[in-house]
Amino acid sequence: MSARAGIVVTGTEVLTGRVADRNGPWLADRLLELGVELAHITICGDRPKDIESQLRFLAAEGVDLIITSGGLGPTADDLTVDTVARFCGRDIVLDTELESRIADIIAPMLARYSGPDAPDLETVLAANRKQAMVPVGATILDPVGTAPGVVVPGTPTVVVLPGPPRELQPMWLKAVETAAVQEALAGRTHYQQQMIRMFGLPESGLADTLRQAQQVIGDFHRLEITTCLRRGELEIVTRYEPDAADAYDQLLAVLRQRHARAIFSEDGSRIDDLVADLLTGRQIATAESCTAGLLAGRLADPPGASRYLAGGVVSYSNEAKVELLGVDAALIAEHGAVSEPVAEAMAIGALRRFGADTAVSITGIAGPGGATPDKPVGTVCFCVALADGRMVTRTTRLPGDRTDVRERSTTVAMHLLYRALSTD
Ligand code: ATP
Ligand code: MG
Repeated sequence: MSARAGIVVTGTEVLTGRVADRNGPWLADRLLELGVELAHITICGDRPKDIESQLRFLAAEGVDLIITSGGLGPTADDLTVDTVARFCGRDIVLDTELESRIADIIAPMLARYSGPDAPDLETVLAANRKQAMVPVGATILDPVGTAPGVVVPGTPTVVVLPGPPRELQPMWLKAVETAAVQEALAGRTHYQQQMIRMFGLPESGLADTLRQAQQVIGDFHRLEITTCLRRGELEIVTRYEPDAADAYDQLLAVLRQRHARAIFSEDGSRIDDLVADLLTGRQIATAESCTAGLLAGRLADPPGASRYLAGGVVSYSNEAKVELLGVDAALIAEHGAVSEPVAEAMAIGALRRFGADTAVSITGIAGPGGATPDKPVGTVCFCVALADGRMVTRTTRLPGDRTDVRERSTTVAMHLLYRALSTD
């Protein structure tokens, strides 16, 4: 049996959806890497009663480890440590050494304030003291911000982490190294995990292939396969114990045989990074109509994008297409702004305008208005043009609303680029 864990995400701002939970999913990935089975992620507000209910629920489920996020700050509504201590039947004591370490951290922060806005020293010291109150017998996790975390050993062991993700993440890596967490996870199975990504294959097509694979692979039941459709791409995550590696190899062979063209990543790498790699030594320019810069933004995401991204034109209006990209007005009049000839002229215009060697254009109908009988909402034309004269032009009919169509268009453009550049 594998070790099991539960996560309690606290914070009224997360419960109400004002802040999207980034800690639960991040911790879920780390637990998966460790081969720990994640049983539940629960979300509750800042009320101690609710936090305690979640702890009780997870303990009753028999998890070996509970991780909490949030509520470690100096203010009165930050009550997680108190609540966890009570739940674990431990008293809270002042750790004077920790108190002085926190004082050292906040001293330079305090020095920045002066005048009537300066916080009252007594208040700050009291708040500081509150953060230095820890359950008896707990291991202290040094603060990354000002809030220390704690690991309370027991059945289950409880790891208490702060809410801000940039504090929680390094502190979790420290928590894993503590004796209490290692002991709680001692019985874990070491799993292998692989991720394959595909594009241009419907989920039903994959389901069919998996049914076939089930017939021919003897140990198929030992593969835990999860498929998920995201941003128009299919992700297939497979988890297995090391001695089932043969079964995974057979699965990979079946997928390669049936979907060679759709698979673009067998090691989990993302299309954005693959495209960034292929753009090494190149200069790319974009010409965007319906996406109005989303593609340029996406190309600029990886650090170091300045090495290959020359720039882009947001040519939303016909006038902009003509004046900024040199598209012939007669071409627009004849074929319409959403057409392959115009997409091609836009890409060629971008190549020239930026002196680039690679260009991508997007022109489409994101909706809800603007559709015609032969060009419904979701009709989007793309062109990738390379300086050597090669050109790849496509028209797609993308599903969804305005946001979906615009976002999905950038994914299609990324894949067209990938294919054009990888057949170099
Ligand atoms: P602080 O000392 O900053 O108050 P804390 O441990 O008390 O730390 P919270 O008060 O729960 O943390 O959250 C502080 C802020 O951190 C939140 O307002 C939010 O911006 C961010 N945050 C908290 N929890 C999450 C979460 N699960 N996902 C993403 N951001 C979060
Ligand atoms: Mg707080």
